[in-house]
Amino acid sequence: MGRVQRRRKWKWRKRSIKEDGDSICIQLVQWLGEQKCILPSNIQWAYFSGTGRGLYTTMYLPEGSFLIRLPKHIMITIHTVMQSGIGSWFLNASEVESFSNQQILAAFLIWERHLGLDSRWAAYINSLPENYTTPLTMSKREKALLPKYIHDGVQEQEQTVLESYKLVITVIKKFSLCKHCGKLLLTDIFTFHSFLWAWNTVNTRAVYVKPTVSVVRLRGENTLALAPFLDLFNHSCYVNTRVEETDESYSLFSSDACPSNSQVFISYGPHANYKLYIEYGFVVSNNPHDVVPVTVEQIDKVMNSVHAVPSVTFSKARNKLIKNNRLNENLCFSNEGPSFTLQAYIFVREVRDFDKKVLQQKIFTCEFTNVEKEVINSVVIRLLCDKIAKYQQQLDIMLQPNQCSESFSVAKILVYNHLQLLEKVHRNIFV
Ligand SMILES: [Zn+2]
Repeated sequence: MGRVQRRRKWKWRKRSIKEDGDSICIQLVQWLGEQKCILPSNIQWAYFSGTGRGLYTTMYLPEGSFLIRLPKHIMITIHTVMQSGIGSWFLNASEVESFSNQQILAAFLIWERHLGLDSRWAAYINSLPENYTTPLTMSKREKALLPKYIHDGVQEQEQTVLESYKLVITVIKKFSLCKHCGKLLLTDIFTFHSFLWAWNTVNTRAVYVKPTVSVVRLRGENTLALAPFLDLFNHSCYVNTRVEETDESYSLFSSDACPSNSQVFISYGPHANYKLYIEYGFVVSNNPHDVVPVTVEQIDKVMNSVHAVPSVTFSKARNKLIKNNRLNENLCFSNEGPSFTLQAYIFVREVRDFDKKVLQQKIFTCEFTNVEKEVINSVVIRLLCDKIAKYQQQLDIMLQPNQCSESFSVAKILVYNHLQLLEKVHRNIFV
């Protein structure tokens, strides 16, 4: 859901997003009214500098305030798709083992957009952004400039979308000509470009609802829904949101107070910037949940560079202890410093005398003596210096292109924020 949220001053100005922005908004609200959906009069649509479209409140909202309630029949789910003109495509695809929630909702959006004003959802579909800032929208040249840890995530996402698209094409090819206009081939409507738009729409705007039974075979639970109007709330990592869901409605409550005439934010979850960027295409400066990932290879490389005997020759017992206690997972730096597993991983590899019982106890209690902390910190400092130098180099490379997409600009902010976090951790070690 939502768009860019960098923590700038929460200034807002009410102006049209594009020339017909206001009429699109009026049409959406009118349509929701026709669907017996009552929107709170104090919540209004506006354009905010820094975050783009969002919702603001015209009156002070105390903690725990009710924000919005959507009747379930206004939400687009797998059930909605199965009752639509394209439901049978998926129901009759007996050769396909299963579909994903996202894949079906994306196909639905493409179809309904093609129907234009004949679509029941026209007012909602018209209100959707035409472009997104997720890494999927970046050019090949830009992707090649990304640091490996971001590049890998983008590539994985791309692969998922491509496979998902291919499956949809396999299904619709059987029907060939569009039954709505009778002119276009379905493959000309369901292009990869339109699928990318639809996929981004679902990925950035869908909400999780209670799982329900699906008539079509799904990979995973049936838990995604598109929520008209409600999906205009932008994310902040400084607020909490409570959801109340019944069989008939989906409601949001803000756990934090909100001043009048200011943007109302909700929380998409305590996500690190990497996840926010890959999934939603934005990052939050000073994100308290942010982490910089570290790989086992990076640690081993730093450790091997100072040891006469490479640490990879350490006994099988040490490696077993690491794996059994999952010390090779969640390796990262956060605002609090190196994660516990990062410290424990270094310690198990670095400690001279291998005593399984003692080490097991340390891992269990999460406590190190001052001497042990020094041993760990000496590696942590080398690791930090190595990463800071690399991130600086990568940022210099990323700053080279004069012109770039919005998504690539966000990637630069992501790397810059990570560099700042690493420098902060480095400073704090010496405090
Ligand atoms: Zn058509």
